[in-house]
Amino acid sequence: MTGGAGDGTVAQIVAAVNAGESTAEAGVARALDAIAADNGVGGELNAFVSTDRAASLRAAADVDRSAPLAGVPVAIKDNIATPFLTTSCGSRVLEGYISPFEATVARRLREAGAVLIGKTTMDEFAMGSSTENSAFGPARNPHDRSRVPGGSSGGSAVAVAAGICPIALGSETGGSVRQPAAFCGVVGVKPTYGRVSRFGLVAFASSLDNVGVFGRTVDDAARALEVIAGHDGANDATSVAAAVPAMRTGAQDLRGTVIGLPAEYFPPTLDPSVRDACNRAVDALRARGAEIRDVSLPHTEYAVPAYYVIAPAECSANLARFDGVRYGMRIDGDGLRAMYDATRSRGFGPEVTRRVLLGTYVLSAGYYDAYYVKAMQVRSLIRHDFSAVFASGVHALFTPTTPTPAFRFGEMSDPYEMYLSDIFTVTANLAELPAMSVPIGRVRGLPVGGQLISPKFDEPGMFRVAYSLEVELGAEAHR
Ligand code: GLN
Repeated sequence: MTGGAGDGTVAQIVAAVNAGESTAEAGVARALDAIAADNGVGGELNAFVSTDRAASLRAAADVDRSAPLAGVPVAIKDNIATPFLTTSCGSRVLEGYISPFEATVARRLREAGAVLIGKTTMDEFAMGSSTENSAFGPARNPHDRSRVPGGSSGGSAVAVAAGICPIALGSETGGSVRQPAAFCGVVGVKPTYGRVSRFGLVAFASSLDNVGVFGRTVDDAARALEVIAGHDGANDATSVAAAVPAMRTGAQDLRGTVIGLPAEYFPPTLDPSVRDACNRAVDALRARGAEIRDVSLPHTEYAVPAYYVIAPAECSANLARFDGVRYGMRIDGDGLRAMYDATRSRGFGPEVTRRVLLGTYVLSAGYYDAYYVKAMQVRSLIRHDFSAVFASGVHALFTPTTPTPAFRFGEMSDPYEMYLSDIFTVTANLAELPAMSVPIGRVRGLPVGGQLISPKFDEPGMFRVAYSLEVELGAEAHR
């Protein structure tokens, strides 16, 4: 679309750099030119909030040309700490903030030879589904600029969809990688909770947060995930010590693989064209030999309400640190209390304020049992729904990623309506499962994503199905 370095796949870029036919500098310069042409900070697509050409080119000059991601330009969401560029979380409270340390995922990409080209537009503190909650203006969907790219990792999805870079990092608390991937027609992966270190990811809701990857192809995403996954010692005590399996499984014969279609994810109200696209994808899986089975996840309808108690509760605690004392913005007032009030009420936008208030309320004495404890019980039931289905011999689930394709700016003016766009994605975060969105077709010219959800730590099984779906659908996925 825009003609950046992302025109090649990760495999092509790396092969050319490994062979000395191309250099990291040349690829990174092309990506930066593409950003400057249309997508620069404040540009039309507004995918990026900060770039630094000189620093990116210096990083490119240091790349070991035999590294596994040698010379691959990468965009990183602005809530992941990087060695240069801002970590502003889409918030006034952290405007211009430069982190003194580097997130494990950013370090692993850098050490693998990938080069950071910019930090991307996001909803403030990752709360939102459209990037309209960004303090620095929303990003636009490259397929239709009057529409949102999805969120909260919208800028990263746009960077990949617009061909600026083949891979990007985002974060997920309730669908923030999968939903924008679906809206922008790219691949988006949320790994199992614990598969990837959260060290250096600014916390929103720690028990739900994950770093995720975007790729233009399934293989691009698999390569990125292989590099960032793995134990991180004391940096993140929830990162698991298990060895990281190969994600690059390639397409395979799916005979013997049982794929479940949960009835609750195909409600009568589902957009009929989204349903048609899903039916074609299911036919493609069948054509590969998969056995398709109807299943039920009965507590699905309680997932959004449970998520919107648990996520705000955790966010109200995590965001307490932005108080004007240690990080970013500080607005002085008459005494300490006045300084807190002024800093937080001017620094945070309306959605973040709403969540902090909601979270404080559900954790407060007298309401804790009624709301927070109840939501945690619902979370257990949702987890149990999935384990029961997987224990019955189902290997993976297939669902639409979102109920509709990308909506227009301003269309979701009621916050509750916006929350409902997460209906098919929050469950995997609540149950800590790996899940991904793969392009499966177009509806009224807009991309539609199909979601795969797998048992814990079975990313290889999930990728096997995703590669197969991509091959079987071929050009159909983008038509
Ligand atoms: N849209 C959801 C929310 O606003 C999910 C966000 C996310 O995954 N970071 O909370």
